[in-house]
Amino acid sequence: MFDFMMTEAQKKLRDEARAFTKWVPRQLILDMDAEKIQFPHEYLQEAGRRNLLGIRLPRQYGGRGLTWVDDGIVAEEIGVASYSLACLWGVGADIVCEAVIEFGCEELKQAVVVPLLKGEVFAAEGLTEPRGGSDFFGATTYAKKDGDDWIINGQKRFIVGAEGADWFLIYAVTDPDAPPHRRMTAFMVPRTEGVETKYIYGLMGVRGGGAGRLVLKDVRVPERYALGGINGGYQVFVRMMIPERLGTAAMTIGSVRPAIEIATRYTARRKAFGFPIQMFQAVGFKVADCALKLDAMRSMVYTTACAVDSGSVNPGRVRRMVSQSKKFVTEGAWEIANSCMQVVGGIGYTSVYPLERIVRDIRLSMIWVGSNEIMQLIIQNEWYKEYFKVLSGEDVRDVEEDALNAHETEEKVYE
Ligand SMILES: Cc1cc2nc3c(=O)[nH]c(=O)nc-3n(C[C@H](O)[C@H](O)[C@H](O)COP(=O)(O)OP(=O)(O)OC[C@H]3O[C@@H](n4cnc5c(N)ncnc54)[C@H](O)[C@@H]3O)c2cc1C
Repeated sequence: MFDFMMTEAQKKLRDEARAFTKWVPRQLILDMDAEKIQFPHEYLQEAGRRNLLGIRLPRQYGGRGLTWVDDGIVAEEIGVASYSLACLWGVGADIVCEAVIEFGCEELKQAVVVPLLKGEVFAAEGLTEPRGGSDFFGATTYAKKDGDDWIINGQKRFIVGAEGADWFLIYAVTDPDAPPHRRMTAFMVPRTEGVETKYIYGLMGVRGGGAGRLVLKDVRVPERYALGGINGGYQVFVRMMIPERLGTAAMTIGSVRPAIEIATRYTARRKAFGFPIQMFQAVGFKVADCALKLDAMRSMVYTTACAVDSGSVNPGRVRRMVSQSKKFVTEGAWEIANSCMQVVGGIGYTSVYPLERIVRDIRLSMIWVGSNEIMQLIIQNEWYKEYFKVLSGEDVRDVEEDALNAHETEEKVYE
């Protein structure tokens, strides 16, 4: 995030996050990437000890009561060590715990949020199913009422942190006959009888973060573990789109930043034809474009965070801004990672530099927490709604009139 826009308190917070990222053992990153480690408990425990989990959540549950701008500052620094660690840092505390704080009962807040923010337990979020992730309302995991409890059956796929999770936020169909927005419930499910996780995916990147399949067979949960009540899952889903997507955008900035640092250092030192390759515009311009994109990405995340923090921006516009940030940042990061690999040449394609891991890791960002095609759908929907409901009604200049033949209305044919 931009240092010149930070308050002194925010600079201190950034430095705390930087110190934590500096602490991360190099061997942990290597062992996760080699999948010798499948879930880095020690990382989350240390984040909890430093009170760097769920910093936006209320102090009474162990958070710091900070803002989305603060969260963006920390997330960028967290992303620097590795994308896999950043995903875990965000999923349990920023996503699941926020859902529990907003929609859960006091018992769940004490059982999940308080120990999770201390790094003592972990929680994962399960939306995606083998039959599809984008079509959220087409979920087939279902729950049936049995006395005061609900019995859940189904499968979830690609669940970050599944391997180490003690709790799962699970969306299940509870009223199959209701319209899509009223048929789902978000349950908090402890790792209990009938819950099975399998670490089976040979992921291209983002390894060692416990991403697994989750199988639920006759899992019994009390009705009070339903966040936002039975059939209230859609409200939870909509709310969680902010931490999922804005959080992803912020941490992706951090995860691609090292690629620019490596490319800058390398191109300033490496010589070809008697000159540092930075002097060749084909090289130097690429690095300059990366710096430009990184700052544009930061600007977008910062303004979106301000919009969410204000609480006064129309929810549709917030949805558009959050989706724009996710799409713009993740596509920008992918371009940056590739450009940085290009200017470092053949050695960038080896494990001598971490560029190849960054490229593999960053690729996920355009797919997960809602693919970028789904972001485009949301942006399109919200833009048209916003334009015709709000912007077209504003008392501003009619720009269509500023054409020589604007009065030729019979030429303005629409059908
Ligand atoms: C490493 C990893 C970690 C993940 N972590 C989690 C997690 O913790 N929790 C979780 O719930 N999920 C997680 N996911 C799942 C991820 O969010 C989904 O993979 C993603 O939402 C896409 O769903 P899908 O893979 O089923 O693809 P599909 O939904 O089958 O989509 C396939 C393609 O079709 C496109 N498409 C689908 N519908 C439309 C449409 N209407 N318009 C235009 N294009 C469309 C998609 O954009 C995509 O390109 C993770 C995935 C991975 C790989």
